[in-house]
Amino acid sequence: MVYPLKVIVVKNWIGPKKSLRVLLASLLATTVMVGPAWGWGRIGHRVAGKITETRLTPTAKAAVDALLTPGESIADVSTWADEVRRDRRESGPWHYINIPITEPRYDARFVPKEGCVVTKIDDFRKILADTKAPRIERQEALKFLIHFVQDMHQPVHVGHRDDRGGNDLQVQFFEKGSNLHSVWDSGLIEHANHTEKEWVEILSKAITPEQVEAWSKGTPADWATESLEIARGAYQNAPGTDALKKGAKLGQPYQDANLPFAEKRIEMAAVRLAWILNATFPETK
Ligand SMILES: [Zn+2]
Repeated sequence: MVYPLKVIVVKNWIGPKKSLRVLLASLLATTVMVGPAWGWGRIGHRVAGKITETRLTPTAKAAVDALLTPGESIADVSTWADEVRRDRRESGPWHYINIPITEPRYDARFVPKEGCVVTKIDDFRKILADTKAPRIERQEALKFLIHFVQDMHQPVHVGHRDDRGGNDLQVQFFEKGSNLHSVWDSGLIEHANHTEKEWVEILSKAITPEQVEAWSKGTPADWATESLEIARGAYQNAPGTDALKKGAKLGQPYQDANLPFAEKRIEMAAVRLAWILNATFPETK
């Protein structure tokens, strides 16, 4: 497969290098303001969160409840990390990891110095487990952990570096302008047209005990590699065809081929988040 290399050319640029960085940063900020795709849409995060809630041990549930504001649920706080993203600039790179799509697996050498979705899952899990850490830090760690386990299961959050995980790949999704990242964040899920409650039921029922056993192992790095493998398929309109090009028309065949992957990844995120939380707050004898 051939992936077009995106080259940013700043014409007529005059000025020192430092200012170029400022300009690029402001261009990026403008793109962000226009509305980038930041993770599963609200419904994807909430559905995964609701399924996780049903899979917690009593001890883990009590520990989570004690950290959250009374009345708040995992589903409620699952989008918090996206909501604070503008104010918490340092957290931007933590929602994803971009690596060349042709790489066989996630590798630590692709992690920027700011950290990424894989390293931050480890970092926040440690803070959450540290009963000596200040409550506010553990509370934030819980909220980040919930969101990042979900984000990293969104295949193009372990996405192609040259198009920023599909954000720069404009496509037509059911004849509406979109980009590949957005199709995966929310397009596939929303097109299926179920309510949040229906999704929770559908996906909860689909999870088998054998799957829970198979999914409750590995490391965030392993799960990132799974996302990368699915992301590779996301760049094809049908298996075995050339990589999607700008303006590609994605419709029912793409929906039918890829919605099952999106569903499976939400199920896996839900099961693994519960697994992590249950292990972080073990049952005492
Ligand atoms: Zn996110």
